[in-house]
Amino acid sequence: MIDLRSDTVTKPSEAMREAMVRAEVGDDVYGEDPTVNRLQEMAAALLGKAYALFVPSGTMANQLSIRVQTKPGDEVIIESRAHIVRYEQGAAAALAGVQLHMVPTDRGVLDPAQVEAAIRPKDPHTLPTGLICLENTHNSGGGSIYPLATIERIREIALAHGIPMHLDGARLFNAVVATGVSAAEYARHFETGSFCLSKGLGAPVGSLVVTNDRPTADKLRRFRRMYGGGMRQAGILAAAGIYALEHNISRLKEDHEHARRLARLLQKIPTVSLEPDHVETNIVIFDVVGSSRSAQDIVAALKKEGLLLNAVGGTTFRAVTHLDVTTRDIEEAGRILSVVLTKE
Ligand SMILES: *Cc1c(COP(=O)(O)O)cnc(C)c1O
Repeated sequence: MIDLRSDTVTKPSEAMREAMVRAEVGDDVYGEDPTVNRLQEMAAALLGKAYALFVPSGTMANQLSIRVQTKPGDEVIIESRAHIVRYEQGAAAALAGVQLHMVPTDRGVLDPAQVEAAIRPKDPHTLPTGLICLENTHNSGGGSIYPLATIERIREIALAHGIPMHLDGARLFNAVVATGVSAAEYARHFETGSFCLSKGLGAPVGSLVVTNDRPTADKLRRFRRMYGGGMRQAGILAAAGIYALEHNISRLKEDHEHARRLARLLQKIPTVSLEPDHVETNIVIFDVVGSSRSAQDIVAALKKEGLLLNAVGGTTFRAVTHLDVTTRDIEEAGRILSVVLTKE
């Protein structure tokens, strides 16, 4: 099976597993796991922040960041198809008590003018805007990259209004590798930022959330415990994360090349509609036009031929490249897609 459903399906390599076996551990709720501490120091340094906290998931990283920077009844400005909106089970409302002010875009990147217009005036009738969240790269936007200049402009607006910013950087390193902009250059514009170890970086579990502010760092740790994310001998997991940061960042460019290669193969199929310029990182979004079959039927037919990918609504499909797919797999995926999508 060639699995292009998500970059979360990667399995830890032998070398990563060896690093996990050898990990020195301690009780991390006491702050005594040396491997977790080392991972946190590495993550803080990479993103140019003073503090980093290891958490079980990207969802928890985002939700802690929202929780510690807002009050119930605040509003959070966010793109309408963000992970926080779509895939976190309503946690921002359920756990932080905030209202999401969802701003639609084509490909996930908010225009600074949209952000400015979404900020509520200080008026007795309106609620306070408590936080602005940006997602880089943007998952539902097709792995789109936030241009640094756009982030800088949004930052100016946020600072002028005294509103903090959170970066959902689950795939931040895909943006880093694609643009050459460092993770710290991106993160500089945000009070809190997160990234995932368990996507293209190939670790089995974990995300990090970073900040420069000591009280914020203390609150993140407190609410991690409240949300059930205080782990004990988590060094076994952190060792996989350290391995991922040391070995699996620069190779993301292979995933991007594979995505472009897949896009080129898809473009040759007459029933496929795809914008090649939109394939910026490791995600390929494409439409199948004029088929009498439902998206679910097409997914099932592809699966029968040995290819897994996701239908993401209507006639739209998503393929994600990652470190467990080879160039040969991509060629084979292209062949299967051509066979299945050409026959009626
Ligand atoms: C995957 C992802 C997350 C976190 O997901 P978890 O499954 O909770 O680790 C957060 N944001 C984005 C943009 C993602 O793609």
